[in-house]
Amino acid sequence: MYEKEKKELLDTCLEMLRHDLVIGSSGNASLRVGNHVVISPSSVHYTEMSIDDVVVIDLEGNEVEGTRNPSIETPMHLEIYNNREDALAVVHTHSLYASSMAILHEPLPPIIDEIVPKLGANVRVSKYAIPGTKQLGKNVLEVLEDRSAALIANHGSVCVAKTLKDALFLSILLERACKIYTTARQIGKPVELPEDVVEDEQDIYMMMREF
Ligand SMILES: [Zn+2]
Repeated sequence: MYEKEKKELLDTCLEMLRHDLVIGSSGNASLRVGNHVVISPSSVHYTEMSIDDVVVIDLEGNEVEGTRNPSIETPMHLEIYNNREDALAVVHTHSLYASSMAILHEPLPPIIDEIVPKLGANVRVSKYAIPGTKQLGKNVLEVLEDRSAALIANHGSVCVAKTLKDALFLSILLERACKIYTTARQIGKPVELPEDVVEDEQDIYMMMREF
């Protein structure tokens, strides 16, 4: 079942690799199809992953189809799908610059006009939780409020969107923004966007999310 979606997921995982957002089998991705979730398998290197390795689960996490175990971060994916109607795809990466921000436990401030309408204002960091736990999912959901991205403490980042293509794009955008911010921090003190601009751009973000 869901051959087209599985292929899309496989392509997205390879793109995550190509964009240096993950290595080996780290990170994971999924998309929601009705009451089912098509999700990457646990511990399979993306370069060796085939469509048959992709797992289908329901919204309670029961396996519907597949020979592999679903991603270790399945509880986080489910927490998002069960609480965010606008999220139909989730991309979770361990990229260098977003992870650097995540170990500082510092949010990515609103620094670039391009970012806020797409991710929402400051990208917050979740409270720490052990990978693969429901608690990690809850902590992430909390800081994802009114945002499409979150940094996961001492771990990585996650982006949500209506399509896998968009969730991947947001992950690349977030990584670039974190790179720009950390680079700027090395040579000076970054200046945030004016407050009224951030408010306006956040309004645009909320409006766009409706579509
Ligand atoms: Zn992870």
